[in-house]
Amino acid sequence: MKYADLHVHTFYSDSTFSPEEVIMCAKDKALSAVAICDHDSVDGIDPCTELGLKMGVEVVPSIEMTAETGEAEIHLLGYFIDYHAVWLRDKLREIQVARIERVHKMVEKLTSLGIKLEAEDVFKIAGKGTVGRLHVAQAIIKTGKIKNFRDIFGKYLGFLKPAYVSYVKFSPKEAIETILKAGGVPVLAHPGVMKKDELIKELITYGLRGIEVYHTDHREEARMRYEEIARANSLLMTGGSDCHGLGKGRILLGSVRVPYELVEKLKLESEKIKAGR
Ligand code: AMP
Ligand code: FE
Ligand code: FE
Ligand code: ZN
Repeated sequence: MKYADLHVHTFYSDSTFSPEEVIMCAKDKALSAVAICDHDSVDGIDPCTELGLKMGVEVVPSIEMTAETGEAEIHLLGYFIDYHAVWLRDKLREIQVARIERVHKMVEKLTSLGIKLEAEDVFKIAGKGTVGRLHVAQAIIKTGKIKNFRDIFGKYLGFLKPAYVSYVKFSPKEAIETILKAGGVPVLAHPGVMKKDELIKELITYGLRGIEVYHTDHREEARMRYEEIARANSLLMTGGSDCHGLGKGRILLGSVRVPYELVEKLKLESEKIKAGR
């Protein structure tokens, strides 16, 4: 049986893993394919693809984008995106700049809440990747004031919490349209984390093609619920570990995987989307 982990980050966003580490780890876990899904970046795709070719690990060019409604933060995966498209790269660069400004704002808020940080500490941790909340959380842990991610996100950085700052004003419709325009297959990431199932119907009207049913943060009950929703709406059922290297403490790569067949289905769907553009 061949397997794929369809949700993996690199240090081009908020994982600690280099392309080498991602591919070696995938090889070690006997995966046939990995989808590189960095937040608002496609910079990891070429280096991973090159190494993957040598090591016999297929790389699915992908992205994870964020959208917001007034009451929810929604992550959308885009599989088999046309990641060389100049307009897409320009748009991502804009978002990356907005993310830098956002760190300054988050640091200000945190400081006023009694957690003293320097933006520079966060940028150092992020290195060359798109900077995000996981980097801010890692910088907070370094101060020794709070020890775990759950408390940091629960008290400060989670959606609409006191130090939360949004950086995109993408609506779910705009995010899905962006992925479709790039020839990618839009899939709702970890809906069990989002906890807004009532939005799924609306997302389908914008062109959503799949749900990430299998995910590190989904327990049995969530898996069953999303399998049911996917089946009822003829959506693809994808899955992945959402591995951030050591970014969340434990290496998750390969701990959630789906049959390789999903890669073929996503590819076929992306070809249809590209043909219809
Ligand atoms: P950003 O893209 O900067 O908005 O940050 C989103 C990222 O923050 C997610 O992909 C996770 O890596 C991390 N994150 C969000 N919520 C949590 C949480 N409750 N615990 C740990 N990490 C989280
Ligand atoms: Fe992340
Ligand atoms: Fe996510
Ligand atoms: Zn992710």
